[in-house]
Amino acid sequence: MSTEPLLFERIAELRAHLDAERVRGRTVGLVPTMGALHDGHASLVQRAAADDDVVVVTIFVNPLQFGPTEDFEAYPRPLDADIARAVGAGATVIAAPTVREMYPGWPLPVATSVRVAGVSERMEGASRPGHFDGVATVVAKLFHLGGPCRAYFGEKDWQQLAVVRQMTIDLGFPVEVIGCPTVREADGLALSSRNAYLTAPEREAAPVLHRGLLVGLATVRAGERSPAAVAAAVRAIIEPVVVPDYVEVVDAASLAPVNPLRGDVRLLVAARFGRARLIDNVGITIS
Ligand code: AMP
Repeated sequence: MSTEPLLFERIAELRAHLDAERVRGRTVGLVPTMGALHDGHASLVQRAAADDDVVVVTIFVNPLQFGPTEDFEAYPRPLDADIARAVGAGATVIAAPTVREMYPGWPLPVATSVRVAGVSERMEGASRPGHFDGVATVVAKLFHLGGPCRAYFGEKDWQQLAVVRQMTIDLGFPVEVIGCPTVREADGLALSSRNAYLTAPEREAAPVLHRGLLVGLATVRAGERSPAAVAAAVRAIIEPVVVPDYVEVVDAASLAPVNPLRGDVRLLVAARFGRARLIDNVGITIS
């Protein structure tokens, strides 16, 4: 493990470096992040370090994926700690471009945008208009910069993973997209950079999302095949604590409704706890 990673702020230099590495026969793993790294991010980096010779962690708080009332300015940016944590997990290259480096005309609107129809439209897409266009656009740009590689994304953001997979197929990127399991606190709360916003009582309440999802899973395991009934079982746990934005029980790949439930099914929730909007999901295969 290197303790001195290569740090790039210039994306042209990053691209040239990765091209040169591939010429030498080395494989590249790409881990896109917005920084404020925690053990969830570290698990992606560790997986990349196990698979690939060169492990690139990108740290970029992407303004395109924040709504006008969201926390772009307030989003934590502890760059030195992030670099240390990424290297500790096995990163060999850190890319931390500025907004102007990624979007040269900024703050003028970015003219070109990637929109992934269907899979991006419900749930987070409905609650956060434009969010997935911003995600797809920045990931497309990172894939162009990264070149042929494996790219690692967390299942914690299941809909984002589905959007990225669809975009990769549709636009023909030479990238293998790899989903990695959600890392949780001992009480089940999914690790998230936004957990830092939680007050002590909110932190205590937040694991109810995972508890609700587990009850939903148990309902499916007990034989329930109605998505509405499974969603109601999840809501019965969550709603005494917080009113969720949504509770969805859908096909895991397309995120489309499936009734009766069959195949790979995903249960997804979102809810606001004070300043933090939290999301979580779990999956089950019905055979
Ligand atoms: P972010 O910095 O929030 O954009 O996240 C960067 C990547 O880390 C995304 O692919 C996320 O899905 C992933 N990630 C975030 N939290 C977790 C977690 N608790 N477990 C696994 N992956 C995560």
